[in-house]
Amino acid sequence: AEFCRQLPKVELHAHLSGSVSETTIQKLQVKKGVGHDHAHQGDIAIGKGETRHLEEPFRIFKIIQDLSDTEEAIFTMTEDVISEFAADGVRYLELRSTPRHVPHTGMTPSTYVESILSAIQTCKDREDVVVRLLLAIDRRQSVETATTTVRLAQEYVLRSDGVVVGIDLSGNPAVGDGRDFIPVLKEAQNSGLKLALHIAEISQQATSPETAALLSLPPDRVGHGTFIHHNQDLADMVVDKNIPFEICLTSNVKAQTVASYSDHHFQHWYSKKHPCVLCTDDKGVFCTTLSEEYRHAAETFQLTRPDLWDLSYHSIDHTFGGEDLKQQLRDKWNTEKEKLF
Ligand code: 5GP
Repeated sequence: AEFCRQLPKVELHAHLSGSVSETTIQKLQVKKGVGHDHAHQGDIAIGKGETRHLEEPFRIFKIIQDLSDTEEAIFTMTEDVISEFAADGVRYLELRSTPRHVPHTGMTPSTYVESILSAIQTCKDREDVVVRLLLAIDRRQSVETATTTVRLAQEYVLRSDGVVVGIDLSGNPAVGDGRDFIPVLKEAQNSGLKLALHIAEISQQATSPETAALLSLPPDRVGHGTFIHHNQDLADMVVDKNIPFEICLTSNVKAQTVASYSDHHFQHWYSKKHPCVLCTDDKGVFCTTLSEEYRHAAETFQLTRPDLWDLSYHSIDHTFGGEDLKQQLRDKWNTEKEKLF
């Protein structure tokens, strides 16, 4: 466990609202003046050994989003989440979040993004972690809202000095049709934004036409991709284009899209030497940390310390921060390696 914590790590799949810790939730409850009731703690996280249907995390995200309806709350959440990842040995972090419009507090998608960027800026000199941001499209949203998100990302690539790097497509996979977003995702891609898309997260998506359509873009990374290997054509597409997988072990087990750690599709892809990056997804809601995810992978799939090292080191290849930054990270990892082995 200590090795996994000390290992320098790359986190590429972390939703802001789902990553918020219990401590931060309590802070937000106090600020908002809503009662903090211990009996309700089970409502905002899925504890050790517990599993719930995938609909449940989506109910929890809504509670957290309602608690964080001001720019100040978004700033606090982001700052805390970054510090927590840094304390766990994450040295490069890509956060993702869905810009929100909250008329009654005056928060707009722009000020939402600005609050996150301002927290990232505040943490820059304080925390030993490089942070980048993806703006998320929620599948439930209209194409119009998705277009606004992509335009915002395009605008902020310049204004944020390269902190905004791409677009995520997420949200309840049982809702909507991913094909609706193809044109706007193409537009994002053409303007140089990277794409990390949730694809084939639930079994129905192994055969739904949206999966092949999204893979044809092609995205720069696949989120989950749980059911891709159930369909040979889809698996071939991923292999041909060598699209890396963002792997979230605990999230998939706790949300019951995967029966157990040992049944996880990580095994399938890792054994084929296909690029895989271990990630947390929602460390708050699923009560995990990235070092815990490395430990689970090690225990379940009998990975050695050098295997874990390689997994972390090769994750750098799949970051969206650009070639210079990749080289800086590799140098940093190599310096740390001497201390670890
Ligand atoms: P936020 O965008 O508010 O920072 O983070 C919460 C949002 O991330 C959720 O509303 C949902 O759209 C997305 N999200 C978080 N975890 C998952 C997941 O496991 N699967 C999918 N498809 N979306 C997720």
